[in-house]
Amino acid sequence: MAEDTAGSTPSGSVRTMNAPGREPEVTIVGAGPVGALAALALTARGVAVSVCDAREPGAGKADRRALALSWGTHLALSELGVWPLIAQRDPIRQVSVSQRGAFGGIEFTCADLGSDALGYVVDYGDLAQACVRALQAQAIDVQYQTLVQRIDAGAGGALEVAMAHASRPQLSHLVRRNSVVLADGAEGIAAEASLRRHEREYRQVALVGEVVCERFQPGRAFERFIERGPLALLPRADHYACVWVLDAAVARAMLAGSAELRAQALAQAAGPAFGAIDWRTLPREVPLVLRSTQDDANARVVTIGNAAQTLHPVAGQGFNLGVRDALALAAAWPAPACRVTGADRDPGSDTDSDTEAAHLRLTAALARFRRERRADRSRTIATTDLLARVGAIDLPGAAAVRGLGMAMIDLLPGVRRLALERLVFGAG
Ligand SMILES: Cc1cc2nc3c(=O)[nH]c(=O)nc-3n(C[C@H](O)[C@H](O)[C@H](O)COP(=O)(O)OP(=O)(O)OC[C@H]3O[C@@H](n4cnc5c(N)ncnc54)[C@H](O)[C@@H]3O)c2cc1C
Repeated sequence: MAEDTAGSTPSGSVRTMNAPGREPEVTIVGAGPVGALAALALTARGVAVSVCDAREPGAGKADRRALALSWGTHLALSELGVWPLIAQRDPIRQVSVSQRGAFGGIEFTCADLGSDALGYVVDYGDLAQACVRALQAQAIDVQYQTLVQRIDAGAGGALEVAMAHASRPQLSHLVRRNSVVLADGAEGIAAEASLRRHEREYRQVALVGEVVCERFQPGRAFERFIERGPLALLPRADHYACVWVLDAAVARAMLAGSAELRAQALAQAAGPAFGAIDWRTLPREVPLVLRSTQDDANARVVTIGNAAQTLHPVAGQGFNLGVRDALALAAAWPAPACRVTGADRDPGSDTDSDTEAAHLRLTAALARFRRERRADRSRTIATTDLLARVGAIDLPGAAAVRGLGMAMIDLLPGVRRLALERLVFGAG
């Protein structure tokens, strides 16, 4: 079971191998940050994994999108050896949430958590690069430039995974696996694995870019609700990474307009506290969509990270949630003694009943994983969606309601602690 039927790695792919001779128990589709962390966490648990990614190693390096990482994510990345490999990590020691022209606001500081930082800001590109290096350090089998095209149920309960070299998709070959983890991001192959996806587009887009200002405050992040959308400023070494959610038409007009117009709009949105403020880079437009995947059609195909849910970036929770998926998956995986693997078994004992028993244990473990992830996933999706929609309401009284909500969170210690814990550790 679980052997390459066509054998070879597609030519041209870069491949590293872990524990020679051990057949992978699982293929992870996608070596993005979430897939890489799942591979590291499963390997740490003694599971033989193989990973494939349609892109070249380090292809994500050019993506300079800033990600706010929660303290919980920082702990997980440290545990898995990724944290020291990230080139630049800027701490967030204070978060200020406010709205323009209305009362109410929330201040969170490290003192609330009793830690050195509330979280950190890193570039997606630096994180992706650190993940490539961490996978190499653990000698994990990664096939780059390998595109997974379909997953079907095969004979004897195995899964048949169709894959090809990314530059020659017509030359596909089949690989048989006991289980597949889809970590292939927002544009992945859910439909080709018979999984259903629900999608809702927001009529807004995010403008993403770097911002410089006269009164830069290192370590302090801002989330400011402007009429119709939030403006997030995340502290880097000497500037802010900006994510500004706007109506698509307004954003496009701003991008088509002059640099002065863009600077003026930004200054108006940010308010006077920053002094003179301007874009350091031309912002780029990112579409906003809420997607979630129902992944119970095949018991041994699971989704994690953006493949499972793609969130509005308003609360900076997408990757943080994906990290919790990856850790929970590894924790739920059957213990080594309960697994039948290529390395452990005596070929003569590879009976149908052994294989069936291993499938049943895995099926039960993955069902538990889905059950255990339900609460955190649905609460994070719901909170992010609510924040996105409430932030987008531009009706009389909306600002006052938002202000009241923020004041309550700030003034009631229990609610405040809960909000902070949700932000930092998730909603499990
Ligand atoms: C503007 C913006 C700001 C954000 N800010 C934050 C933030 O502050 N905090 C936060 O936590 N999150 C944030 N996010 C969300 C975060 O970027 C994502 O949740 C995270 O990058 C998802 O990682 P992933 O590994 O699941 O997917 P990806 O990073 O998309 O990786 C998927 C991988 O799968 C590979 N792949 C795809 N299809 C195939 C295939 N068929 N075969 C083989 N390989 C395949 C791809 O090549 C890719 O390498 C933000 C998102 C945006 C857009």
